[in-house]
Parts: sequence; C-alpha cells; structure tokens
Amino acid sequence: MRQIAIYGEGGIGKSTIASNLSAALNEMGYTVMQVGCDPKRDSTRNLAGGRLIPAVLETYRDQLRVGKDEYAISLDSIVFKSPGGIYCVEAGGPEPGIGCAGRGVLTALQILKDLKAFETYKIDVAIYDVLGDVVCGGFAMPIREGFAKEIYLVCSGGFMSIYAANNIARAVQRLSRRAEAGTGLAGIICNSNGDETLEHSVIPEFARRLGSEFVQFVPRTPVIQACEFEGRAVVEHSPNSKEAGIFRDLAKQIMENKKTVVPTPINDLTELEQMYRQHLNKK
Ligand code: SF4
Repeated sequence: MRQIAIYGEGGIGKSTIASNLSAALNEMGYTVMQVGCDPKRDSTRNLAGGRLIPAVLETYRDQLRVGKDEYAISLDSIVFKSPGGIYCVEAGGPEPGIGCAGRGVLTALQILKDLKAFETYKIDVAIYDVLGDVVCGGFAMPIREGFAKEIYLVCSGGFMSIYAANNIARAVQRLSRRAEAGTGLAGIICNSNGDETLEHSVIPEFARRLGSEFVQFVPRTPVIQACEFEGRAVVEHSPNSKEAGIFRDLAKQIMENKKTVVPTPINDLTELEQMYRQHLNKK
C-alpha cells in the first residue's frame, strides 16, 4: 500500500488537492482511502457530496461512554464509501479545551490500523490530509509513527505559505532520519493563489533548495471553485475540463514517483526572504 501525506499551511487548499487526487486515483482503478487528519473534519467533504461524515474520535468517545473499547467500533461506522467508490475517514479532534489534537489524530489512525481497515478494504493508496501550519510534535505524529511515508507539501506563491512549507520540511528532515526507511519528502505542489508569474518562478526554486521536485501547478480557476461549492471532485463533476486533466496528471506523476528525499530546508529566515524577494523583483 502506498501511504501519501499532504501537508501545508492551514487554508492553502490541502483538502482540495487531496480529494481531487483521491478521485483521480480512483478513476485510474486504484482502491483509495482518504483520511482527513484535521479536527475540522472537512477533508472528505468533496468526496462525500458536500456533507461532513462522522469522525473516528467522536465514535470512539461514544463507545467509551458506554464502557466499550475501540474493538467495539464497527469499521462501517467510521469508514464511508463515497458515491464514486472512495473510502473516506475523518479522524476528528479532541473535545474543545481538552487533549492534544495531534495525539487525537494518532489515536484515530491507530484505531484504523487495529481494526485492519486497510487490509479489509484492500486499499492500494492511503492519502492522509494533515493539518500542518503548526509544526508541533502532535501533527508530526503520522510521520513519526509510520503512517505518512511519501510527503507532499502544498504551497502557493504567498510568502507565509512557503515559510510554512519550509518549516514542515524542517520537521520532515528531523523525522525522516528516525522514521521507517523510505519516509521523506516526495515533492512540492503549487495550489495557486492567482499570482502565476511569481509562482512559476519561485516555487520551482524553493523545491530545488529543498532537494526535491516541483510536481504540479494547480491554477485558481472558477471550475475548481464551482466543484468545491457543489461538494464534488473535479474529475467527477467536470470530467472533460482542463482542470480534470491537471488532477489526472498529478495522480499519474505521484504514482510514478517513488523517490523520497531527506529535505534540505532553509534554516535562515533572511535567506528564505532573500530568495523570495529576488523572484518578486523579477516580475
Ligand atoms: S502538540 Fe500540537 S496538536 Fe498537540 S495540543 Fe500542542 S499544538 Fe495541538
């Protein structure tokens, strides 16, 4: 099973990338499970027809309240098959004000593993959509515990999104040395904020500095926004659009790319700022 994690700044569009990637992989014939690792539990909304599915941690807490444990949870109460055939899971989060969100995500992933969800549904590709603007130990858990192996960073041409991606790369650098062999950075995906000239110039260089590859440019277009609004993936809602082709291409590239690296992030903020400024000045 391939285990692919999508990390990036909050609000950058990780769920858009993850859900459209899942749908394109499903169309290619892979059996896909998408796991949303964000307390907001809206990662799989585009696959579930715009609705929010129940979360693993909520179900777990309900079981604990009646004196049962995780093994009393049935897989079909936490794994939802989308109309298109994608298995969708939302980890959920802790009760407000109590506990650690990252630990909660890990508990949810462990429950899936213990209940043998991946074997039961014969999953070929698991996509983890991980909240990652806080590069705390909590949200690094999926990497540390061997769930997230091939890590893709999503950023736009906004400086703060590149700054966040660089910070996540620092966490990946630290963790991939200790994690299972093969765990590392697999590439950078641009989810455009509309400033395409800057993005086509700065993001490939940023990827190079990390020792990685710039994998795909996803434009900001009305088609993608309309599909989001309808709660549908692009390849399902607008299969003949240019945008559907972009997500199919992303899926193909990711399946063909088996290379991961220990990234070489920029440790000095001034250096990161200088790199960014040079590209801004070129515009
Ligand atoms: S470790 Fe991270 S996930 Fe856990 S409570 Fe702190 S900030 Fe949240």
